[in-house]
Amino acid sequence: MELNDQPLAVHEAQALSLAWIAPVGVERVSLFEAVGRILAETVHAPHDLPPFDNSAMDGYAVVAADTAGASEASPVRLEVSEQVTAGQLPQQAMSSGQAVRIMTGAPLPEGASGVVIQEQVRREGNTIWLTRPVREGDHIRRRGEDIRAGQAVMSAGECLTAAHIGVLAAFHRAFVTVRRRPVVAIVATGDELIEVDEPPAPGKIVNSNAYALAALVRAAGAQPLVLPLVRDNVAQVEAAFAEAAATADVVVSSGGVSVGEHDLVKPALERLGLEARFWRVWMKPGKPLLFGRLRGRPCFGLPGNPVSGMVCFHLFVRPALGKMLGLPETRWRLPEVSARLAHEVRTKGDRPTYLRARLVWTETGWQAEVLPGQGSGMLTSMLGAQGLVFFPEGKRVGQAGEVVPVLCLTSLVGDWPGL
Ligand code: AMP
Ligand code: MG
Repeated sequence: MELNDQPLAVHEAQALSLAWIAPVGVERVSLFEAVGRILAETVHAPHDLPPFDNSAMDGYAVVAADTAGASEASPVRLEVSEQVTAGQLPQQAMSSGQAVRIMTGAPLPEGASGVVIQEQVRREGNTIWLTRPVREGDHIRRRGEDIRAGQAVMSAGECLTAAHIGVLAAFHRAFVTVRRRPVVAIVATGDELIEVDEPPAPGKIVNSNAYALAALVRAAGAQPLVLPLVRDNVAQVEAAFAEAAATADVVVSSGGVSVGEHDLVKPALERLGLEARFWRVWMKPGKPLLFGRLRGRPCFGLPGNPVSGMVCFHLFVRPALGKMLGLPETRWRLPEVSARLAHEVRTKGDRPTYLRARLVWTETGWQAEVLPGQGSGMLTSMLGAQGLVFFPEGKRVGQAGEVVPVLCLTSLVGDWPGL
């Protein structure tokens, strides 16, 4: 296939890459391992919840009709027939004139139709006095009031939170079927790179991209597999990609994808038989971004500039991982909010531009503080950036107070439902 000569628009490139992405398989995990995983089954309630009528308070179960006329002037007197605590069963059905001492969560005796809380009765030996009526159903948690047997409680594609796990446990489910975590091989290329634990050396920089990308992969619910550093040498680049495609579900590389003579990723991948889909996207930061399929595995060649790499990850790799995890489309994309610019912002306007910004919630809605240092190599401006302010091509100035769209840099999986 001929690669695009002209850079693609972001949405075109996203659509092309997503068309080559399919969900990964499933696995069963223990509830202890399940938080943040993506559910891959529909869960129906196997039984009612709560499973039996029980008391919502510590108090006395009564026959509500017995208490109809109770008042300060004419209190109603009942005989305490037994006591039921949580986990026990009542020994007998209740009859008129009786009360059963009952604790929160204890099963309601047959015949009881309401519970009076203990603070509202006077007890003398085995007798209680009520000075106000108890209504039918008072302080009773009815069988099935939370959920009925057979009802669907969760569906495939939901991210498991603590609440999901509690509900599954309540249904005696110790294991749950989730999407496998896609394994993402990370290949960093560059003669200038050294590892994080090596001492500083002249002309060298740390391979920080591998670490940042591994963290992004994890925050997207996938499993990073960081391969050893690759030098700007075709044979090494080829060998690394061949290994990556053989061991991972997705390959993500950093650097070497531009047009310099040391940019060997594209030629190396082509020699390996890459089915290339696109190269270069009309955006800033970014632009050089190679996508294709290598031996059946989706492959993203990200630019080496740290910010470009991260922004391209958010815009392209994150949606792909979301789709692989079986998430609904609404969750693949970065959530978008409208925000007011905190101050005037100037850009070149030569390409659609994503600007790192801090998002602050104010009385009048979100405010975006575009951070200083927007160069694509300036990673510290990514610190504290919760969003990317978007300026379309040609927009050079944003006025203070102007409302602009902002993509929120949330994690793909986590305990929060959406935004
Ligand atoms: P490249 O895309 O290979 O031309 O890389 C562009 C620039 O990104 C390089 O000059 C480095 O400053 C930086 N860079 C490349 N790879 C990494 C990496 N793995 N970690 C940190 N910075 C990198
Ligand atoms: Mg390079």
